[in-house]
Amino acid sequence: MIDPASALDGQYDVLVRDGKIAAAERAGTRINLHDATLVDASGWWIVPGLIDPHVHLRDPGFPEKETILTGLRAAAAGGFTTVAAMANTSPVNDNPATTRYMLERAMEARSARLVPVSAVTQGLRGIEPVDFAAMADAGARLFSDDGIPIDDAMVLSRALDETGRLGYAVALHEEDRALSCDGALNAGGVAEHLGVSGYPDSAESQRVRRDLALAIGSGAAVHIAHVSTPESLELIRAARRHGAQVTCEVTPHHFTLDESAALTWGPNAKMNPPLRNRDDVEALRAAIRDGTIDMIATDHAPHDPKSKRMEQLAGLFGPGHQAARLEHDAAEMFADAANGVVGLETSLGLALDLVHRSLIEPARLVEMMSLKPAALLRLKAGALAVGATADVTVVDPNLEWTVAPEKFLSKSRNTPFAGMRLKGRAMLTIVAGEIVYDGRKP
Ligand SMILES: [Zn+2]
Repeated sequence: MIDPASALDGQYDVLVRDGKIAAAERAGTRINLHDATLVDASGWWIVPGLIDPHVHLRDPGFPEKETILTGLRAAAAGGFTTVAAMANTSPVNDNPATTRYMLERAMEARSARLVPVSAVTQGLRGIEPVDFAAMADAGARLFSDDGIPIDDAMVLSRALDETGRLGYAVALHEEDRALSCDGALNAGGVAEHLGVSGYPDSAESQRVRRDLALAIGSGAAVHIAHVSTPESLELIRAARRHGAQVTCEVTPHHFTLDESAALTWGPNAKMNPPLRNRDDVEALRAAIRDGTIDMIATDHAPHDPKSKRMEQLAGLFGPGHQAARLEHDAAEMFADAANGVVGLETSLGLALDLVHRSLIEPARLVEMMSLKPAALLRLKAGALAVGATADVTVVDPNLEWTVAPEKFLSKSRNTPFAGMRLKGRAMLTIVAGEIVYDGRKP
C-alpha cells in the first residue's frame, strides 16, 4: 500500500466496506473480514485511485471519436478512478445544462468518475466570461479554455479574480498563436526534414511568461497544462519564488517521446504543444524528478482516422520506417491533421517506466497521478485514510505487456505507442468500493 498523503508505504491488508476504506492494518495482523471478498494483491500496489486532470471525452458532440461511456471505460482500464473532462465539446461546456448532461452520462456509465471542467469564456471565444459561480454550482471543479489560448490578457485577469474568489484554479493552454502559426511539428530538424511548418518553444514560453505575471499579480491559482519546454519550467520556478500559486502538468508523450516520433507515426505523433527535442525531454524528466512538475496528465485526445488524415497519408509513415520529405499535398494534409493522441490506457505504464528507471520513487508517482490532481480539482480524494471513499487502484508494477491499440476501450486508436513494450498496469480499478475495471481477467 502506497499512500503519500499519510506517508504510508508498506505491506498492508485493506478492508473496504460500504464504499469506504474501513481498515488498513499491517499485513498479517488480524483484520476483521466478516464475509469479505478476498483479493490477493501480494506483489501488487494498492494506491489511491489515479486521477487524470486533463482529458477530452468528445461528448457532447463527437461520438465518432469518443463518448463519455467509452472514455470513462478507457479511463478505468488505465487505472483512473477520476478524470477531468475538458470543455471543448459541442456544445461547449460553458453552461450548467451541459455540465449536468456530462455528470448524468457519467452516472449512467457506472465506471470512472467524471469531473467537468468549465470553459473560462463563452464558446471558448476568449471574450465573454462564463458565469463562474453557476458553473461551480453545477459541478465544475476547474476552469479552462483548453485547446485554445486566452489571448486577451484582461479577459484572463478578470477570470482569475473570479475563480480566485471561488477557490478554483484556471488551467491554461499556453500558446502565442502569433508565434506558433499553426506549426505542425516542433520547429527544428524533423519539421525541416518533412517539409512541414515549425512550432517554436517561444510560442509556449512567451505565453507562460505573461500568464505567470498575471498569476503573481492576482494571487489566484493557475495551472499550466501540458508543459513542454525548459523555458516554461524556468518561468514556473521563478514565479513560485515570487509567490505565485502555480501548478503544472506534463503528458506521458512529452516526457517519453521526442519530435523524431513523427517520422514513424506521422499524424499520430502530432499534437499541441508538439513533441520537442531530446534535450527538452531530458529537461522535463529532470523537472519530474526535482518536483517542478506537479502531476501527470494524459491530455487524452481521441480522433477518428479521417480527422487524422490517415487515408491520405497512408504508406508514408509506419513502424520500422522513417518518412522522407513530404510532397506539397502531403505536407498540407499533415498540417491539416487534427492534433492530439489518446493516452488513458498507456499513461500508467509510461509513468511506471520512470520508476523502473529509478528516476522517481513509487510514492512520487502516486503523488503525481493521484494526490496532486485531487488537490488541483479541489477533490477530497487521492488518499487512503480510514474513512476515505474507497477509490482505489491496484497496480501490478511488473506485468509486461505490449500496447495494442485495437484492444483499447477508447473509441479511438491514435497513439504513437503501438507495439511498445510496457512494464506495469492496473489490475483493479475500484470506485466507491465497486470494481469498475478488472484486469485480472485475460
Ligand atoms: Zn491544450
